[in-house]
Formats: sequence, structure tokens, C-alpha cells
Amino acid sequence: MNELQLYNTFTRKKERFSALEGRQVRMYSCGPTVYGHAHLGNMRPYVFADLLRRTLLWCGYEVKHVINITDVGHLTDDADAGEDKMELAARSLDLSAWDIAEKWTRVFKEDLEKLCVLEPHVWCKATDHIAEQIDMIRILEEKGFTYRARDGVYFDTTRDPEYGTLARLHLDAQQTQERIEASSHKRSPADFALWKLSPREVAKRQMEWDSPWGVGFPGWHIECSAMSSKYLGVPFDIHTGGVDHIPVHHTNEIAQSEAVFGVRPWVRFWMHNGWMMFDSGKMSKSGGGVVTLDDIEEMGIEPGAFRYFLLSAHYRQQITYSQDAIEGAQASLRRLRRHAAEARESDESIGAERVETYRGRFRDALTDDLNSPQALAVVWEVVRSSDLGGREKWALLVDFDRVLALGLESAGLDVPDVDEDAMRLIEEREAARADRDWARADEIRDRLLEMGIVLEDKPDGTRWRRA
Ligand SMILES: [Zn+2]
Repeated sequence: MNELQLYNTFTRKKERFSALEGRQVRMYSCGPTVYGHAHLGNMRPYVFADLLRRTLLWCGYEVKHVINITDVGHLTDDADAGEDKMELAARSLDLSAWDIAEKWTRVFKEDLEKLCVLEPHVWCKATDHIAEQIDMIRILEEKGFTYRARDGVYFDTTRDPEYGTLARLHLDAQQTQERIEASSHKRSPADFALWKLSPREVAKRQMEWDSPWGVGFPGWHIECSAMSSKYLGVPFDIHTGGVDHIPVHHTNEIAQSEAVFGVRPWVRFWMHNGWMMFDSGKMSKSGGGVVTLDDIEEMGIEPGAFRYFLLSAHYRQQITYSQDAIEGAQASLRRLRRHAAEARESDESIGAERVETYRGRFRDALTDDLNSPQALAVVWEVVRSSDLGGREKWALLVDFDRVLALGLESAGLDVPDVDEDAMRLIEEREAARADRDWARADEIRDRLLEMGIVLEDKPDGTRWRRA
């Protein structure tokens, strides 16, 4: 079996993965701030973490996975400026912050389920772990890593010579570039809040707690350090999140955790997914191109198509969401399911000796830093191959779907829109196009048109619709 190589943001290199303890992998993924409906871009980190977890399982590891829910303390700016997102949402909607948190946590979990993301072993909420966070801040204070300001307790980044290594931050340069906001009580721009005191001059906060420093609430970063160590121990194997977490949130998690636990590195592998951009096409909401899973379902797109769309790019690549791209993913997924259903019905068995060749290539793709587009290419080779029988294809697809989770196993023959004959013609035409046999491709297109099916060729495949 080949080695699993994973890209570690900390070293900016692919490294050979091995678990800290035997075959048991402990993994933490930063969860959502539950003040509104997560849009599709917000869901990418969890499909990526799920791909990672399923790959580890497929490679024979056991995985303990923790995802947190941020229901307090995340300000509108990651660097401690602005208001608490939860309190802001509560005030603008005239609802309780607790109700908002509960509602959006439930919706988030439902969205993950729709995307076939395995449920974490532990869900943990920041507001359920205030005592643990206070304990950590107390230790930081005892060790001399904090200072008190008028509005709270801050981590003194100048006390940590390694501060910013993850993000390759150069503090001196940064300090001259950044201004400290007039309202901030930080000594240095990189310093970050561990505990914020409830402001006395404005309306009373809905979420606040007693602490040794006064009534207030924890800063955003401390919750992840407190909860990951509680459920996974110290150090642990993998910490995931979006690239946007690198410069502030994860940098600060590392600083405070290494200061408290005296363990370096606190986390063995830091892994981050790339951004997902939205094009400014017609389906975007007026609020700046934000689309949720509900929105695409209303368009008749299934959540699995969004998973397919994400898997068709490498997790570290920046990807752009568009209506065309999601429709293409939906069409591809339907075709793939169709193939899977046909393979299941088949009792043809040829080339059993070829099975391990394909499985090996699928493994090569996955173990090369989770190269899911390459893995999907192997899947397509399998379904189109003439040296495998239906039974071999089916066995491989079921195995591969343990990682891809595209619902291939339960795929029915009832693919919407077109019947079996038309489907076969579409496939045949694609093969002709691949062979650059344009005359044959045109001939099939005309025949399909007579059957009332219009084809549209896109860079990522052919779509069809009823005329
Ligand atoms: Zn976090």
C-alpha cells in the first residue's frame, strides 16, 4: 500500500502522513459561526474535511473527528473589531441570540447530512465550554502571556517568538502597515482578545458570563484551543479549516495553545481548503452572490451535485461556482449513477485481474494529497472501460464510493429526463466526440433531436434537455 501524502500548511510541503498513535487519527475542524444560513462557500471546508476523513478510513485508519459550533464571541472582524455576530444578528432580527444559534446550528447539520458529510464524533458549542476557556486564559495569565486592558484580556503576541509562523507573518512589517483602531485597547495589532468585558455603555448583552476579570464573553479563538484539547488531547494529528483562517484564527490558536500546553507542534498537520468564489451570474442573490443549498435545491439541483462539483477540483484550488458549473456537475452525476445502476444489474464478469490495477490508480490519486479530480477520472475510466465486466465495475464503484459518497450504491436506473435508449445514444455520441468522429456525433445529435432531446456541449461534458 502506498503512503498517504498530505499537504501541511505549516511546512508548505506535502509530507508523509502517519498518525501520532498507531492507526488512530484525531482530527479537529473549525465549525461555523451560527448567525445565519451558511452559503455554499461556507460548506466547502466540511466536504473537504469529509474527503480527508473518508480517505483516512479507506486507508485503514480510525478517525475521531470533532467540529465546533461558534455561538458566541466571533466579532464581525476576525481581528477583534466590530460587534459579536450573534448579538448583532439577534438585535437586527429582534430574536434571542440563543434561538438564532439553535436554529442555524440545526440547519447547518441538516446541510451537512444532505452533502453526505459523516457526522463528527463530537459536536461542541462554545457556550457549553466557558469554564474550559476561562481555565485556559487563567493559565496564560499565570504564565505571563496576557495583559489586561480596559475592554478585556489580551494575548501578548510579543511574548511568543514563534508567533505567526503558520501564516509566515512578519510582525515588524505588519505593525508598520496596520493601524491600531482608535477604539482598540491592544498594545500591538497582532494581539488578540481572550476575554472581552461586556460593554457597560450599550445595551446589555444576551450572552455573558462571570469570570475572574469581570462579566463578559470569550474571544473567538480560545474556544477551538479549549475544545480540541478537551476532546482530542494534546498534541493531535490534523486541524482543518479554510485558508481564510490561516493569518488570524489558526495563528492565534497555535500561539495560545502552545503557550498553555508547552507542546510544539501542538498540531501535527494543518490542512486548509481554498476559497470558493461566486460568479456574478443570474442566480446570485442581491446581497453579493451568496447561494445556499436550499437555493440550488429549489432549482432542481440535488446537494450531491454540489459535492460532485467540489470533488471535481482539488481541495486546495480556488474554485468558482456558477450556474453552468453546478448544472454540469448534476448532469455528470446523473450519468455516473446511470452507469453504476447498469453495472449493478449486470452479471457479466470479465477481467477480474484488472480490478486491482484500477483500484491502485484510485488509491494513487487519493493518497497524493487527496487528488479527487484524478480519483473521479479513474471512476470514469472504470465505467467506460471495455476490459472490466459489470460485476467488476460494480465492486469498484461501491468501494470508491466509500470515499466519494456520491450515492452510487443506491443509484436507480430511473435517471430523470431521458429514457434508456436516449441515454445510450448520449454516451455513444460522447465516445464519438472523444474519437473526433464528428460526422457520427452529428448524426446521433440529429437522431436525439428527433426524439425531442436537445444537446448542449460544454467544456466539462454534454447536457441535455427536452425540446
Ligand atoms: Zn477554530
